[in-house]
Amino acid sequence: MNCLDFRRRLLADPLSNDEELLAHEETCPDCAPFARETRAQEIALRNLLQEITPPEGLAERIQLAARYEHRGESKRRWWYAAAASMLLTIGVSLFSVWHTIDERSDLTLAQSVLNHIDDESNHLREARPVSNGRLKFVFDRFDAELAGDLGQVNFAAECPMRQRTGVHLVMPGKMGPITVFFMPGEDTDGVLPIVSDRFQGEITPTAWGSIAVVGENGEQLDGMGEALADAVRWPANAGELASALFERRLSLGPRVAQQQDR
Ligand SMILES: [Zn+2]
Ligand SMILES: [Zn+2]
Repeated sequence: MNCLDFRRRLLADPLSNDEELLAHEETCPDCAPFARETRAQEIALRNLLQEITPPEGLAERIQLAARYEHRGESKRRWWYAAAASMLLTIGVSLFSVWHTIDERSDLTLAQSVLNHIDDESNHLREARPVSNGRLKFVFDRFDAELAGDLGQVNFAAECPMRQRTGVHLVMPGKMGPITVFFMPGEDTDGVLPIVSDRFQGEITPTAWGSIAVVGENGEQLDGMGEALADAVRWPANAGELASALFERRLSLGPRVAQQQDR
């Protein structure tokens, strides 16, 4: 068996007990570490997939791992690079699991907004403003343009929503952070209230979809959805673009991400 065969078969079944595979691993100094890493990833992945809630602080750990990757001696760098790639792999596949769960339970739009805030609660703590360039980059993905001032924005990203992606923003409010989701293609009949133990807000319909604005209980949010709607110009096909961006994310299975990483 050559190294290529070995790696191909290992990737197909990382926990295989096949004697030929084990024999190659024992004698090949190049493939042995590859096999260990692949198995570790597989086990971490399986463990994580058994939990439905994402582990606390996953995003911070990825950032930390990525930061360490840039310093330290080479052995350490190798380890952190491997850790970062593993977390990335897990992140991608957790996304498809959440998607499946969302689909199966047919979540209401309001509930999916609250879940999203909860899943990414680390972003509520962002305290430094993002650059205008970052904002422009995020809206650009949907061919949307900033037509007015959004005010201070401490977090901006393109995020998966129910069946499409959208724009996730966090802004400072009086009672705490305010979360905003621009959701192209998510049409609603009239204004929908959002209520939980901690948060309150509403989903406002727009010409191209809807906008969710959610703050801590007691936050004054009146008119904010309309003001934000006026501040961004969306193309007529915003909903279709958002579907295409979502499909692209779904098609990135864990295996693909792993291979791209190598
Ligand atoms: Zn080999
Ligand atoms: Zn998000």
